[in-house]
Amino acid sequence: MNTTRSKELFSRAQETIPGGVNSPVRAFRSVGADPIFIKKATGSTITDVDGNDYIDYVGSWGPMILGHCHPQIVDAVKSALALGSSFGAPTELEVTLAEMVVDAVPSIEMVRMVSSGTEATMSAIRLARGYTGRDKILKFSGCYHGHADSLLVKAGSGAATFGVPDSPGVPSDFAKHTLTAQYNDLHSVKSLVAENKNEIACIIVEPIAGNMGTVPPCEGFLEGLRTLCTEESIILIFDEVMTGFRVAYGGAQELYGITPDMTTLGKIIGGGLPVGAFGGKKEIMQILSPSGGVYQAGTLSGNPLAMTAGIETLKLLRQDGFYSRLEEKSRVLAEGIAVAARAASYPVYSTRVGSMFCSFFTSGEVHDWTTASACDTAAFSKFFRGMLNEGIYLAPSQFETAFVSIAHTAEEIQKTIVAAEKCFRAL
Ligand code: PMP
Repeated sequence: MNTTRSKELFSRAQETIPGGVNSPVRAFRSVGADPIFIKKATGSTITDVDGNDYIDYVGSWGPMILGHCHPQIVDAVKSALALGSSFGAPTELEVTLAEMVVDAVPSIEMVRMVSSGTEATMSAIRLARGYTGRDKILKFSGCYHGHADSLLVKAGSGAATFGVPDSPGVPSDFAKHTLTAQYNDLHSVKSLVAENKNEIACIIVEPIAGNMGTVPPCEGFLEGLRTLCTEESIILIFDEVMTGFRVAYGGAQELYGITPDMTTLGKIIGGGLPVGAFGGKKEIMQILSPSGGVYQAGTLSGNPLAMTAGIETLKLLRQDGFYSRLEEKSRVLAEGIAVAARAASYPVYSTRVGSMFCSFFTSGEVHDWTTASACDTAAFSKFFRGMLNEGIYLAPSQFETAFVSIAHTAEEIQKTIVAAEKCFRAL
């Protein structure tokens, strides 16, 4: 595969952009490869600047559930652009998307739009602190909630991939308010809550962890968090930036039937444009400025192009049978890869919820960061490079989730399974 032009661009990029990329994991550094620079994408295919095509399972890290360049979204955004790209004043589009989100997500009675998942979680936590008058927060090792200071403590995703879960630059005075428990271990949560009685403002959790690979919640884990939070007057925040509109139209909370007090969203609600959102019970949301005193704002919040892409995406997701079709494609693919690994006699632990899936390179089970971090990342890296060479674009880290879109065809899925068997055999 010729990647000359990508290599030239990467070397140029490193002169002016730290590490040559605007978000760390894009650098492919942990998998011993150079990044490919993208020229365009359509449907499930992404094309690099050297003209190589790849079947894309990154989907811009989650937003592209419809595949790239869906004509309905492209047309709607073009029309919106002709009316102006930003006003810094309210529009009907914001009201429409807010109503759609309130209709869709069980816990959300009111919602505010921001421009990224990081802003959504950061603002949700400020609001939880403002509402409860408490300072401490509780998160889980290996979960990632964006890069706000108090959340870069035992963080997943790129922070885990590069071995900096506790980032330099975060004052210990901030980090000391963040308690960390083990995912899927209610015991660890209960003891921290008991040790910090009446001091914890919120528990923030990925209801399906997607930033240490894909780790589904064990039976009773989310229910246990819900009960504990109610008993202790702690705000339960589901960070559904990844799972919202992904595992079901109403997110993981719809799938599992557990309603948190607040929810953060991102990725899919922006249809590929920069959007995040946080919402929850009215009595909590109303203490946000200007109806209340907790301050939060944004020049481009509720941007008309982003709102348009979000509205059109949600309309398409609401169509009959969307999630069952996506489920079936994802099942065939994830099971096919698991069978391919067995056929190649290579041990992996396969996980999947809806169109999120992962192969952990380990012979044991994975339910938390301790077991995820025990995976053979060197073997994963070799597998990743092999798959890229076969024209399959996976996330360049063991500690990430693969995403299936509705645009992936049966042929592409079969091609991926055949490539996976070849790459497992080469390990
Ligand atoms: N929360 C979760 C669960 C995420 O997966 C991410 C991003 N992968 C974020 C928050 C942060 O979102 P953003 O990158 O848009 O700031």
